[in-house]
Amino acid sequence: MTDSSATARPERHAEIAAGLAQVRSRIADACAQAGRDRADVTMIAVTKTYPASDVVALAALGVTDMGENRDQEAAGKAAEVAAAGVRPRWHFIGQLQRNKARSVVRYADVVQSVDSVRLARALTNAAADREVPLDVLVQVSIDGDAARGGALPGSADPGAGLEPVAEAVADAPGLRLVGLMAVAPLGWEPERAFARLAEVADVFRGLHPGATALSAGMSGDFDIAIRYGATHVRVGSALLGMRSTLR
Ligand SMILES: *Cc1c(COP(=O)(O)O)cnc(C)c1O
Repeated sequence: MTDSSATARPERHAEIAAGLAQVRSRIADACAQAGRDRADVTMIAVTKTYPASDVVALAALGVTDMGENRDQEAAGKAAEVAAAGVRPRWHFIGQLQRNKARSVVRYADVVQSVDSVRLARALTNAAADREVPLDVLVQVSIDGDAARGGALPGSADPGAGLEPVAEAVADAPGLRLVGLMAVAPLGWEPERAFARLAEVADVFRGLHPGATALSAGMSGDFDIAIRYGATHVRVGSALLGMRSTLR
């Protein structure tokens, strides 16, 4: 490569370094306030809408985990980043259609947004030839509104109840159930949302002791999510700037 298209310009690199320093200090403060060990919280840089060169810059600054929410964008970006010699841990965090499962398992290390038994089965089939199991978080709905995505805690719905989905993942040979993911519902105070999520996670860990990951909190509310036990925060705009489209 002669023009190093996956290399950020120096000004952009400096901008990203500044954003990262701020986010890291917010995470450290939130951990200190919550009496939690900083090492127990992983930051996932959400790079959707931003170019591969930003991913490479983040990796050079020590960021190991990246998140994307659309397969088409993520597949191309992961390939570009790999061609630049960088191999972050990719988390797929968006709504996933079953016909995209085969594509996603090629580059993703983690899928955080499994919320139906049908999707769990599609991933099981797609992951059959992987060398390492695919880590899976079950996305839960905090407000019980299944239309906005997320499995339903306490529901016996065979397709979208939290336990049926978790069991479909736990029973699948190529998948590893590692925990829960959630997004605070629109219109809810983050405290209320993450307190509710912490209760759900507590019950969940009783049933699945190995599944301790809790992915919660975005740029606007990750400090509060950390207070309520988040082990993974998904941070986009606070690192990379406001996206021009809302997603
Ligand atoms: C975009 C996105 C994020 C990051 O949001 P920011 O507000 O930019 O930090 C986190 N989680 C999910 C599921 C997302 O789609």
